[in-house]
Amino acid sequence: PTVKEAPPVLAPRRPTRKIRVGSVAVGGDAPVSVQSMTTTKTHDIGATLQQIAELVTAGCDIVRVACPTDKDAEALPIIARKSTIPVIADIHFQPKYVFAAIEAGCGAVRVNPGNIRRFDDQVKQIARAASDAGVSIRIGVNAGSLDKRLLEKYGRATPEALVESAVWEASLFEEHGFHDFKISVKHNDPVVMVQAYQMLSERGDWPLHLGVTEAGPAFQGTIKSATAFGALLSQGIGDTIRVSLSAPPVEEVKVGNQILESLNLRPRTLEIVSCPSCGRAQVDVYALAEAVTAGLEGMDVPLRVAVMGCVVNGPGEAREADLGVASGNGKGQIFVKGEVIATVPEDQIVETLIAEANRIAATMEPV
Ligand code: SF4
Repeated sequence: PTVKEAPPVLAPRRPTRKIRVGSVAVGGDAPVSVQSMTTTKTHDIGATLQQIAELVTAGCDIVRVACPTDKDAEALPIIARKSTIPVIADIHFQPKYVFAAIEAGCGAVRVNPGNIRRFDDQVKQIARAASDAGVSIRIGVNAGSLDKRLLEKYGRATPEALVESAVWEASLFEEHGFHDFKISVKHNDPVVMVQAYQMLSERGDWPLHLGVTEAGPAFQGTIKSATAFGALLSQGIGDTIRVSLSAPPVEEVKVGNQILESLNLRPRTLEIVSCPSCGRAQVDVYALAEAVTAGLEGMDVPLRVAVMGCVVNGPGEAREADLGVASGNGKGQIFVKGEVIATVPEDQIVETLIAEANRIAATMEPV
């Protein structure tokens, strides 16, 4: 059998230690995983599990759920048991929920150092309970809830302040012999965030959870996250990612997967190569690319489809792809693996491409 060569990456991963979030390994040689967070009330078990199922379909590896009330904590055992991916409970103020989440069978618990300080004396019990249950922790440092002492020392949430908070918080667990945790140092400014993660990665071998916090609505948040994650992942920094968008969480997962695919950190699935259109275009490239993308949504094979507006670059690109169209004179030349297999009228381009894509996809292995 032929051994497929791994696609090139921009940098080797920085060595970090491997932890487990339920069935998913994070850090070390484990693939970079994609996370998201539900927006349902966690105590609405049906709605939460439904949303988790949608996230799984979109390619989510790990899901986080908020746990602000007793009712939410009580829902955790069923959610953890029925979810097909590991569940992380997000706890801010109440240590008792940390213990509830560990008992509930969650894969991990996220705690916030700005708040955990109030239960300093309980860190030891948390470490012991988590260790006994094989549950990991995420230390979530966040610019918005930085320890007052550090805010006074640095004046604001600088990269140094975020890193000092993270290292201090890590030491609280480490002094009790607990090492199964990952760290995030989130900031809404990608530059501050990138600097913080760079510094933190020099300080220890903790697995790192990347996130730009409060990144904004879909467009801005996507760009901010892609820019920041790209800068870090291209240096080998980052073991798991969460794109935060003011948009449905499925969108976060799609963006996260696309970032990893773009960097060859996750096998590429469907790729639409479409031209930006220009004065030479003889077809509405935007509408064509959108219709083809919509028609092939969810395809999980590494199919490359070229949608080109004219015959200048069209045939060349279309030939390089598994499947493509080059448009001109009210017609579309359909290419499969470099050969013209048909020339169809413009109004049949989309249906022909989709039919051919499905035919080729049926012969390919899903990634
Ligand atoms: Fe313009 Fe044709 Fe190139 Fe599209 S393929 S950008 S229409 S020259």
